Amino acid sequence: MAIATDTDRRMFIDGEWVESSSGGWIEVHSPATGEPVGRVPAGIPDDVDRAVAAARAAFRDGRWHGMYGPDRVRILHRLADLIDEHAAELAGVETAQTGTAIKLRRDSDIPFAADNLRYFAGAIRHLEGKAAAEYSGSHTSLIRREPIGVVGQVAPWNYPFMMAIWKIGPALAAGNSVVLKPASATPLTTLMLAGLAKEAGLPDGVLNVVTGRGDLVGNAIAAHPDVDMISLTGDTETGRKIQAAASGTLKRLHLELGGKAPFIVFDDADLEAAAHGAVVGGLVNAGQDCTAATRFYVQRAVYDRFLERLLDHLRTVRVGDPRDEQTDMGSLISEQQLQRVQGFVDRAAAAGARVLAGGSRATVPGLSGAFFQPTVVDQVAQDSEIVQQEIFGPVLTVLPFDTEDEALAMANDVRYGLAASVWSRDVFRAMRVANGLAFGGVWVNDHLPLTSEMPHGGFKQSGFGKDLSAYSFEEYTNVKHVMIELTGEIEKGWHYTVWGDPR
Ligand code: NAD
Repeated sequence: MAIATDTDRRMFIDGEWVESSSGGWIEVHSPATGEPVGRVPAGIPDDVDRAVAAARAAFRDGRWHGMYGPDRVRILHRLADLIDEHAAELAGVETAQTGTAIKLRRDSDIPFAADNLRYFAGAIRHLEGKAAAEYSGSHTSLIRREPIGVVGQVAPWNYPFMMAIWKIGPALAAGNSVVLKPASATPLTTLMLAGLAKEAGLPDGVLNVVTGRGDLVGNAIAAHPDVDMISLTGDTETGRKIQAAASGTLKRLHLELGGKAPFIVFDDADLEAAAHGAVVGGLVNAGQDCTAATRFYVQRAVYDRFLERLLDHLRTVRVGDPRDEQTDMGSLISEQQLQRVQGFVDRAAAAGARVLAGGSRATVPGLSGAFFQPTVVDQVAQDSEIVQQEIFGPVLTVLPFDTEDEALAMANDVRYGLAASVWSRDVFRAMRVANGLAFGGVWVNDHLPLTSEMPHGGFKQSGFGKDLSAYSFEEYTNVKHVMIELTGEIEKGWHYTVWGDPR
């Protein structure tokens, strides 16, 4: 698979490819090879102003939300088809800019993103609401779902293309105009997406992509007085900053933030299935996944057996060149991220943790990138940072438990609440624990799968609002109550409560 070479890609504003008013550029490098893979404009708040003005103009004249419905559906389907047609190219660039194994990008993220978009195209045709009726006795009440207006969206680097789709899919389906900012490390496939959207027939100004730094461009979008809603997928700290920036104009917020998923293995679980699920759940995208299994709680009777199976399997994981078909795990997003992951492991080891696998940089012949070994650590305290904080690397911590109550208490004892899994053959126990877990998504005897039809989103400091599903579509709409007077009377029976006397 050829890696994309030094390519300039401009920002996308009002249907045009433009440079930043700053004149500056941001270099994009492959974290696996160190090679440059592209260059994008270093956007500044002036560029955000231009994009917001274009989005507002598109929204005001209704060129998108006012378009004949079946045409809007067709354009989104056409975009999904174009994504499928360009899947190999998109996956190649995604792998180049993120260092993630090509098979995950090509066979999972990109096709799933196309399916997500098809779901949202269909959602346009399936609006739901309360039935219209004469609730007051003398008016017909009905509900309208309307687009919000100009939606600002800020995306992360871990699944750049798929996250862009999770953002623009529901927002566009609901009829909004969008100003989207990709992460500055991974802007390339989002700009490719903008090109495909134009080719699919999306009117100019409806989707705008501004590249640049989060604290500059992201902040300017969040604070912009003419942006009606801001949606972020990113770190919990970034969520806090965006909430603060948006507070001046009281925007609607949609925040998909960090996670620290527990993976609870009971003594009656299928241990082989759990060990497989642990490898996949823990190492997906080299652990740089908000739903990745990171905290393993294993019932004491099966603790050693589970660990043994897990460690056996981890030894077979192939860390290597992400462009290679056989590679299971590529590099982390950057050297800086590797140092952060290493820091967590070193501090845990210094505090007495056992490092049972990995624990340091992985060597990949011919490549000097940010590769880290699959790592398992136990004998850590529940309140230690390695258990409490999001690491975003291939680091699994394992702790024993005795009772169901204890497992639930430890699993819930973090500030995050995005995803969790429970492994048991006892359906009663699995259901009890699923109900007790304070997480927005819970798997029973699996970890990771999502579907376009079902919501994904957090509790607690993992944010609020949902991605995927009809719930996500609703996030991007305003609910309007229209009340139509039916009697035609000039003076109503209740008017005296404000003016005059009873009739
Ligand atoms: P990040 O918070 O560093 O960056 C996310 C985006 O926010 C980037 O585009 C960045 O440029 C921008 N940004 C940074 N500072 C900003 C500021 N002050 N104002 C406005 N925008 C700003 O996150 P990341 O490192 O790119 O991604 C990893 C994080 O994303 C992890 O915490 C992960 O759990 C989370 N994530 C969550 C979900 C979910 O669905 N809940 C999905 C994927 C990733």
